Amino acid sequence: NMASETLYIAAPYKHSRALSKASGVEVWMKLENCQPSGSFKTRGISHMCVKHKNSPRFVCSSGGNAGLAAAYSGKQLGVPVTIFVPLTTTQLVIDKLKDEGADVVRGGAAWDECNQNALKFVEETGSVYIPPFEHPYIWEGNSSIIAELDSKPDLVICSVGGGGLMCGIVEGLVKRKWDDVPVLAVETHGSNSLYQAVQAGKQVTLPAITSIAITLGAKTIGKQAFELTKSHPIIPCLVSDEDVVKTISQFLDDEKILVEPACAASIAVLYNGKLKELASSNPKLGNVKKVVLVVCGGSGVTIEMLKNWKQMFNIK
Ligand SMILES: *Cc1c(COP(=O)(O)O)cnc(C)c1O
Repeated sequence: NMASETLYIAAPYKHSRALSKASGVEVWMKLENCQPSGSFKTRGISHMCVKHKNSPRFVCSSGGNAGLAAAYSGKQLGVPVTIFVPLTTTQLVIDKLKDEGADVVRGGAAWDECNQNALKFVEETGSVYIPPFEHPYIWEGNSSIIAELDSKPDLVICSVGGGGLMCGIVEGLVKRKWDDVPVLAVETHGSNSLYQAVQAGKQVTLPAITSIAITLGAKTIGKQAFELTKSHPIIPCLVSDEDVVKTISQFLDDEKILVEPACAASIAVLYNGKLKELASSNPKLGNVKKVVLVVCGGSGVTIEMLKNWKQMFNIK
């Protein structure tokens, strides 16, 4: 039975009066924050886990939303899960992973080392490695966001880390023969691996991630995401951490939803005038009326963290 093997939900689809008013376009939110595990990652990762449901174990190296999605999926499928997390991972996330029954291994100082150890463990144990963004099953699962839309939008806005969400969105648009719908691909200045790659005409590796949007912190954009910028109208776009923090606060007031910096990046372009600015100079954005905003969600945020970020940027 196919239906029982879908572990993600058809996320709520809701018009935002506040964002429409702020941006001058009609904004429809796909509320991926409502997914089990708290972000859109449930879509791609659960889809990949279902495809490998007879395997002995899933292994993921993520101290963030990918790990949470893998832990949730394994629990639902009755497959044990090991999550390798870097030392920087917060107790908040480790507790959540353990609540889902996952084995948590402190796998290294930074993500790269942690991932190396995860891959070694996969080799030794015959487990299935669940990547955060670079796999066709991940993109196929993420493409379901677009499959659920009732009608064709003029623009889709999403955040970009490694680009798995964006690849899924483009796949979904192409499947519906909406190839001409542009995607506004938003990063922060300190996590701009897609933006830099498009400027350079090739994948580049950032020396460091210097943004509070750590969930967007892929130092190198995924290959597929970079390749798609050549075949699909993808518009890379950057916002500041300061605007991200203002946006988390404003969006909480307006929609009563608390999102991670990674998610707020794509919402910020509707509050800070960036979309209007781009539309005045980019012919692909000339006649945009209806926008789908993917509210990608994320568990790495609390009121206390928001308070600290506001202090950091002197925001009242
Ligand atoms: C993973 C994640 C992203 C970035 O997704 P990619 O597929 O890596 O581009 C953005 N926002 C949230 C909340 C995430 O968990």
